[in-house]
Amino acid sequence: HNVLIIGSGGREHALAWSLSRSPLLENLFIAPGNPGTAALGENIPLSPGDFSDTASYFEAVAALVGEKQIGLTVVGPEQPLVDGITDFLEARGCKVFGPSKGAARLEGSKTFAKWLMHKYKIPTAESIEFTGETALDDAEAWLKYDNGRWPAVIKADGLAAGKGVFISSDAEEAAEHIRLIREDASLRKAADRLIIEEFMVGEEASVFAITDGRNARLLLSAQDHKRIGEGDTGLNTGGMGAYAPAPVVDDYVLKLVEDTILYPTLGAMQLEGHAYRGVLYLGLMITEEGPKVVEYNCRFGDPECQALLPAMESDLLEVMLATVNFELEETEVRMSRDHYCCVVMASGGYPGAYEKGKEISGIGQVSEDALVFQSGTREEGGRLLTNGGRVLSVVAAGPDLTRAISRCYKEVEKISFDGAYYRRDIGKKGLNR
Ligand code: ATP
Repeated sequence: HNVLIIGSGGREHALAWSLSRSPLLENLFIAPGNPGTAALGENIPLSPGDFSDTASYFEAVAALVGEKQIGLTVVGPEQPLVDGITDFLEARGCKVFGPSKGAARLEGSKTFAKWLMHKYKIPTAESIEFTGETALDDAEAWLKYDNGRWPAVIKADGLAAGKGVFISSDAEEAAEHIRLIREDASLRKAADRLIIEEFMVGEEASVFAITDGRNARLLLSAQDHKRIGEGDTGLNTGGMGAYAPAPVVDDYVLKLVEDTILYPTLGAMQLEGHAYRGVLYLGLMITEEGPKVVEYNCRFGDPECQALLPAMESDLLEVMLATVNFELEETEVRMSRDHYCCVVMASGGYPGAYEKGKEISGIGQVSEDALVFQSGTREEGGRLLTNGGRVLSVVAAGPDLTRAISRCYKEVEKISFDGAYYRRDIGKKGLNR
């Protein structure tokens, strides 16, 4: 099989690494990829940013699929999925690992996800929806006069890269948050549909499953670290590290997740005529009343993907092919019993302004047992340079979380570049339990 991976981050490097181990793989292409993926397959310089609109980007991907005789396209990021790349390529005869446009609304539209969960009684926060031109005004009035329960969570519909969610501790702060949404051009666009929801108390964790719509195979649970600073402080980032499995998701919780969330969601999507195929990422709050959904994502998380795929003992390509061919029922997915830790190294200043073009050294010294996945890098004259906020991630395994963490940091310390920043407490909250 010739396989095309769409995307350019650490997640896609991990996908390329995992797929390249499959005996079923003939040729691997990554569009656009990064210097890390170039060592595993052929990078094709094709990014959505090169095109004036989504349709011409999709046309270019379809042309590539034809030219390279791609049998399976694996979509890393959410935007093309939400825009309908799966439907577009499948209509042209190429199998795609990733949900259709209708199914990707689980991530692309928070109001759709909430509506589905309420309709099918899938555990989640209580919520109220405001739509239409006056949505912001109505939400503001409701927060001001009617809502006695604080904190309240305000969410704008649509993809906002984590910036569309506000947690307001009282009416005054809520008014300030509404003002921020009103004044931010991109949020304003997403805000003709707003949700205000109950604040859930508990520990957050995510659970990943691969599904062909009817059958599902659980991968692992994981916890990520979104904030830039140690102790979960400071600004939100794309993710500064992850570890798997998450101790808060014990076997009992996992069973509850399967029975009350995973299968009910798959059934609901089938009944709504949008059977979900691909990776389903369940963002959960483990509350005293059991696990509840915070959000759905329609793809692997980055950096969780880097921590999960090394744990997969089964052939990822075989599992993906079984998924797109509706044969997951006959396919086993084996995961290692080890623990995994993934630490992201970022450019100093990120998620604010940062410099690029710093030479990265030491990757060659990293132990063979650990993995380095690149994200924001570029190659110039045989040198590897930083080229983004999140530069690379390092993954190591151990028989317990303590050893996974210490092995991972031992390798991280071998890699250096000017201004390199990483959190030193990845996995610590898992040890605290
Ligand atoms: P991201 O892209 O960062 O994953 P998002 O924009 O998709 O985020 P959510 O995941 O819905 O938004 O919310 C972001 C964060 O806000 C969650 O990870 C969680 O920490 C917090 N949060 C959201 N909803 C609730 C809630 N109802 N109760 C408590 N915390 C919440």
